[in-house]
Amino acid sequence: MQIKENISLKAFNTFGIEAKAKYFTEVNNITEINSIIKNPIFKGSNFLLLGGGSNILLTKDFDGIVVKINNKGIEIEKVDSEFVYLKVQAGEVWEEFVNHCVHNNWGGVENLTLIPGNVGTCPVQNIGAYGVEVKDVIQSVEAIDIVNGETIVFSNEECKFGYRSSIFKNEAKDKYIITAVNFRLTKKPVFITHYGDVNKELEFMNVKPSIFHISKAIEAIRRRKLPDPKLKGNAGSFFKNPSISTAKYEELAAEFPRLRAFPSGDGYKLAAGWLIEKSGWKGKSLGNAVVHHKQALVLINKENASGKEILALAKAIQLEVFNLFGVDLEMEVNVI
Ligand SMILES: Cc1cc2nc3c(=O)[nH]c(=O)nc-3n(C[C@H](O)[C@H](O)[C@H](O)COP(=O)(O)OP(=O)(O)OC[C@H]3O[C@@H](n4cnc5c(N)ncnc54)[C@H](O)[C@@H]3O)c2cc1C
Repeated sequence: MQIKENISLKAFNTFGIEAKAKYFTEVNNITEINSIIKNPIFKGSNFLLLGGGSNILLTKDFDGIVVKINNKGIEIEKVDSEFVYLKVQAGEVWEEFVNHCVHNNWGGVENLTLIPGNVGTCPVQNIGAYGVEVKDVIQSVEAIDIVNGETIVFSNEECKFGYRSSIFKNEAKDKYIITAVNFRLTKKPVFITHYGDVNKELEFMNVKPSIFHISKAIEAIRRRKLPDPKLKGNAGSFFKNPSISTAKYEELAAEFPRLRAFPSGDGYKLAAGWLIEKSGWKGKSLGNAVVHHKQALVLINKENASGKEILALAKAIQLEVFNLFGVDLEMEVNVI
């Protein structure tokens, strides 16, 4: 394990933002993870844990140590008549793990096809897409306590999963390094195809739902809708869909008959993309930061935008949406 100095992070974040790390290291196994947390540079600096860099916005050089988590391995822990239990190391690439499950016909993650990032990060914001959240298949999360090096196992309940949220984004943030995730996948899959255009895509493909076909359908939909970060730097949805009370929903629905909202918990969730579109930002830019013309939730680094430019665009959108609808748009992306 080598600690390098003054390293560009451009290749390590999907926004493709140029920012430098004072120190940078990659840890490839648990021994190296245990060793880095005892290292005097780590102990004496700010730190940033990094997976695939697909949910961060770097707004300045990082005056501390960036630790890229790379430990690999997928193990079958147990199989019974209904389920397969897997332990997956944090540095596995999420998309490769999904492909592995689809290939083996294990159900539960096929709707989460083509989400960038690493397995160790999937619990952090409880990744979700097309009617599925990763919390539905997570049994537990293994982590190392940064202060005392102890291993700790968080049960599904202890992870406090919510919509794009978990304990790791809140009170446990920067206290633990997630080292592995334990999954329970099903041998008797339940197909979830009602969300978005999945059924339509399956019909178009002229196939019956299966783990493989749902994965392929979602891959096709996502490739059409979302910009490839390799070509246009982005971090997926920049904002969360805001939750509002029923009273607020009724007030807005009366004023905006085409309001896009869906019942959620005690109230409603609004489609953040629709709010941004209605506030006139879809396809618009501010400096080198652009709102994607097909999906207003996605902000794009047009030409070497700085993180500050992207953040300025995000704040301008927040202001406009608040002025028009009286609704706060919360950022989903971690601003560093
Ligand atoms: C094109 C595109 C589409 C996307 N679509 C979706 C989608 O459909 N649904 C969805 O939910 N998300 C989506 N995302 C967001 C992103 O892919 C996920 O949030 C993903 O889980 C981030 O993983 P990562 O490894 O890249 O995280 P990073 O960006 O590397 O890190 C994210 C946060 O987790 C922390 N972290 C990293 N590793 C660890 C660790 N081992 N222990 C503790 N903390 C850690 C980091 O410090 C940071 O705060 C999309 C992103 C892109 C670019």
